[in-house]
Amino acid sequence: MEGKGKEMEALRLSERFYSIQGEGPFSGVPALFLRVLGCNLRCVWCDSPYTWDRWGISRYGDGKVDEGFPYTFEEFSEDASRYSLLVLTGGEPLLYSDIWESWVRRIEVNPLLQFETNGTFPPILMDDDRVHFVVSPKFPDSGNPDAIDPDVLRRYVPLVEKGRAFFKFVITDVERDEGNIRDLLHRLGLPERTWPFSVFVMPEGVDPALPIAPEVAEMALRNGWRYSDRLHIRLWGNVRGK
Ligand code: SF4
Repeated sequence: MEGKGKEMEALRLSERFYSIQGEGPFSGVPALFLRVLGCNLRCVWCDSPYTWDRWGISRYGDGKVDEGFPYTFEEFSEDASRYSLLVLTGGEPLLYSDIWESWVRRIEVNPLLQFETNGTFPPILMDDDRVHFVVSPKFPDSGNPDAIDPDVLRRYVPLVEKGRAFFKFVITDVERDEGNIRDLLHRLGLPERTWPFSVFVMPEGVDPALPIAPEVAEMALRNGWRYSDRLHIRLWGNVRGK
């Protein structure tokens, strides 16, 4: 994009679709999803491997990556005026922080914008109350030994206090993950009074029965954390565009 004016900037999306937000604080809300290509992590249980996984690392992938399509500021501006909630996801949307920052500052409408991020990049647009973050740190069992950087994650804590950032942990093994989450929350200094609203635990999996869900709910109750289901998986299974 070098040498082009901001009006010519385009993101490359894997998907753009309208559905129900199935996870986290805005669960159940109708939303437009903008899914970028590319991720800096390599999760073995990534459920959007078609955005990055050429190697067949994710158990849900087939080694094929979308070609994608360009998405311009003009389209973003139009979408922002039509939809109440825009979910900016991927892949890792904050790989493109500069573009989002420029685009969001230029729209005058008031949709709620929610970034779904892996927490390896700092927050952007901290002064813009339209912008929210669901931060999903990845422990080593995800296949990423060094994905947790407490200094970066701590930068989200002021936004947690304002109800604009949330932590969401994908649970694959209740016993192991419970200890990891507790340790991390203490290292981040996240006040315990915020946990029931701001710290989500969510079952991993693409089976609509989500077999691990009852155990995750018990874990949430034991620790005063918030349970997140996966409504889109319950409703439609692991299909794209939903
Ligand atoms: S951080 Fe998210 S998009 Fe990236 S590999 Fe992990 S689950 Fe997939």
